[in-house]
Amino acid sequence: MASTSPVFLRLMANAVAVANHAGNIIREVMSKGDLGIVEKGVDDPQTEADRRAQLCIIGNLNKKFPLMSIIGEEDLAQESNVELVNDIDKEVLNLRCPEELVNVTEEDFVVWVDPLDGTAEYTAGMLDHVTVLIGIAHKNRPVGGVIHQPYYNYKNDKAGLGRTMWGIPGIGVGGFKPIPPPEGKRLVVTTRSHMTPVVQQALEALKPDEILRVGGAGYKVMLLMEGHATAYVFASPGCKKWDTCAPEAILTAMGGRLTDIHGTPYSYASTEMHPNKRGVLAAAKSDDHKWFVENIPDEVKQLVQGS
Ligand code: AMP
Ligand code: MG
Ligand code: MG
Repeated sequence: MASTSPVFLRLMANAVAVANHAGNIIREVMSKGDLGIVEKGVDDPQTEADRRAQLCIIGNLNKKFPLMSIIGEEDLAQESNVELVNDIDKEVLNLRCPEELVNVTEEDFVVWVDPLDGTAEYTAGMLDHVTVLIGIAHKNRPVGGVIHQPYYNYKNDKAGLGRTMWGIPGIGVGGFKPIPPPEGKRLVVTTRSHMTPVVQQALEALKPDEILRVGGAGYKVMLLMEGHATAYVFASPGCKKWDTCAPEAILTAMGGRLTDIHGTPYSYASTEMHPNKRGVLAAAKSDDHKWFVENIPDEVKQLVQGS
């Protein structure tokens, strides 16, 4: 079965397995106690877990799909002796493949990898904010996404630790149950650790009932996926393509939308610059997304134009 499956399904099924393994690495580094923190820039830490998880994810995907472009957040020389992941997710492998992807070969996919999203929160012990993100793009657009949450249930020792969510636009989602946000309430989720005056200005103009400040693009989109927030608003250029590719695929698969704050989608071509310079605006319902695009003030839009 596996060898006759479309490349896209084999890629998704391997991405799920390798994201699970990256979660093991992230927990192992934390339990050893020495995080090996390096500052890449202002408020931009990297740990041993970011490094080892990326080497594992890219090393394994490269072995199986040597002709594919894979772009990871961390600037690391790829090592040949990676921890091999021999599993594959059978359920994802056996999904229906979107018609337009059945015959696409590996050279035509681009994979965006954030080996550990929410590093600042990982170092601060806010462990449920941590995710592993693997997004698959074809013809510039996200066509598949995997979000692994290594510390799901970590405060509940009777339940299994960690979970993996996936989404394929046109096919569906798995690993979680989509829940719509509460009607008649405007719950906005935004950055916890990268606040700026413009981000604040946008939030004030939207007059939310509640502002949730959490870490990571993956975790913020998860709050949208499970009905805890109406929209993710970040009027600032700090987020990158590896932060949004997988979350956008999953949101799109459940009828939501992720764009810049002007309402224009990002391109995920391999030649694209990494920063999402025009900010991030996402919602689980496309009507909500439309409302937020219309209500972000022009003054904020002019300040976050990407130039
Ligand atoms: P946050 O919402 O602040 O947790 O950020 C979501 C993602 O975007 C994380 O991967 C952050 O590392 C990244 N990010 C956002 N703003 C910045 C920034 N000013 N500098 C570096 N990374 C950022
Ligand atoms: Mg990130
Ligand atoms: Mg990261």
